[in-house]
Amino acid sequence: MPKRIPVVENILSANDQLAQQNRQQLDQAGIFAVNLMASPGAGKTTLIEHTVQRLAGEYRLAAIDGDIATSIDADRAAAAGATAIQINTGGQCHLDAVMLRDALQQLDLHQLDLLLVENVGNLVCPADFKLGTHKNVLIASIPEGDDKPYKYPGMYKDVDALVINKIDLLPYIDFDMDYFRRGVELLNPGLVAFPISCRTAQGLDEWLLWIKTNASP
Ligand code: MG
Ligand code: ZN
Repeated sequence: MPKRIPVVENILSANDQLAQQNRQQLDQAGIFAVNLMASPGAGKTTLIEHTVQRLAGEYRLAAIDGDIATSIDADRAAAAGATAIQINTGGQCHLDAVMLRDALQQLDLHQLDLLLVENVGNLVCPADFKLGTHKNVLIASIPEGDDKPYKYPGMYKDVDALVINKIDLLPYIDFDMDYFRRGVELLNPGLVAFPISCRTAQGLDEWLLWIKTNASP
């Protein structure tokens, strides 16, 4: 037996326990929290900007942005109207429950209704680390190609919703939507999906309705 496996399992279960504590904290404060995962450049920050701009009148929003370096994304979320916290992971390619706990300590949770967590751009390990958010959302985008569900099954199989961004580019890119959706369906049957374009705002209303439906008490 390789000795590393139990170590990894222990790390994950310690993370899960902390994630549970994060969830309790969020629930006690009445916050609905979403973990947004995607490859780099899929549009996580842009979707956060649009979501914040559209919902800021009804909800008190915060964004927690995980990045290996810089505060560019948190600055954008703040400019859109959210209370924004940047987590620099110092090279780590995913967020974990400890990082979310530390970020939550910087927020006045009782002054918030909705929390958007932007994970590090990566289609592999963010799936393995629960944060304690209520929903895990994957953002795919048309330029990444239609084969991603087949190549990154771990990311697709456990998420609660799928955003398919940049659909305005469909006329210019060889992206077989049927092939893509078949791959998704195999891994995560019945997964709710939102084809959107942040550029043209197409499909954004459906996404926002999903957020509002989940966020309402
Ligand atoms: Mg970003
Ligand atoms: Zn990682």
